[in-house]
Amino acid sequence: MGAVTGGLVCSHHHLYSTLARGMPAPPHTPTDFAQILEQVWWRLDAALDLDMLRASARLGALEALLAGTTGIVDHNESPNAIEGSLDVIAEACAEVGVRAVCAYGVTDRHGPDGTRRGLEENDRFLRSGGRGMVGVHAAFTCTDETLAAAAGLAADRGVGVHIHVAEGPSDAAAGERLESLAQDDWLIVHCVRLDRSLPGTIAHNPRSNMNNGVGYGRPAHFPNEVVLGTDGIGADMLEEFRLAYVAHRADDILAVPDTAWSWVTNGYRLIPDCENDRVTWSYDHVDSPWHVAFTPGIRALDVVGADGEVLVRNGVPTRVDTAEVRAQAAEQARRLFARL
Ligand SMILES: [Zn+2]
Repeated sequence: MGAVTGGLVCSHHHLYSTLARGMPAPPHTPTDFAQILEQVWWRLDAALDLDMLRASARLGALEALLAGTTGIVDHNESPNAIEGSLDVIAEACAEVGVRAVCAYGVTDRHGPDGTRRGLEENDRFLRSGGRGMVGVHAAFTCTDETLAAAAGLAADRGVGVHIHVAEGPSDAAAGERLESLAQDDWLIVHCVRLDRSLPGTIAHNPRSNMNNGVGYGRPAHFPNEVVLGTDGIGADMLEEFRLAYVAHRADDILAVPDTAWSWVTNGYRLIPDCENDRVTWSYDHVDSPWHVAFTPGIRALDVVGADGEVLVRNGVPTRVDTAEVRAQAAEQARRLFARL
């Protein structure tokens, strides 16, 4: 029997992108981050319908749970399937047994109607009692009016804004544009090119940043609280922690794993109830960041959620059938890829 911890939190995820693995190559090979967005992610998100989104979210939530991650702070973008999308994601997570904080990423990329519908989806979901934040894609795809509308909606609903900030060069002006709007309850994601201090919690996503070639964001250099996310590349937080530690170490030889581990546990500020969940791991020293940093392959054996319900026993989910979830995902991935 290994060590026991609370359930882990993935503090920035995109459950809509679970089906992206294996997608067809883009028509033109992207040569910078802006082209990666245009050639890969904006083609994928535009092709999603609610059936695809449901299959994507179910598989993403299941893979999170099997990695001992019982909470996901999600950021959705599905511009041709906006209405009801946050319910689809919330229901998929609830079915599997994962807690979710949902947001729809508002953007002006699809004209004023798309902006309005995005704001309305956040508002509708929050008003109906959904656990969420107000999502914004990023400052560089929004006018000042849209940013102000999202900030105002979040304040009205008593939640923060969940927004990508200065992820790459194309969003380098984000700090200046958000300075008068950002609040302590905002979740500001990436901040790789952020040129000033903004209020809010910084979500650091080391694997995604490396994959997009945007550079190292030096999250430890900001005064903000830092949390750890995957930006849609699974939800294995021990794996992301190991990467966060070595990325930190590559930048600063004096870096210690305790810092990156604090970014994992800071996720409890976003989803406090995950700390009461119980994960039994395949390894005895999950309570030691120095052990975990140098021990690949630690697995979640048992996961116990709210009211003592066993959600995973010996690595097998109790509520859903893994083969069925994967088969659904494969079927919807075929439909999705045919549209790309
Ligand atoms: Zn993201």
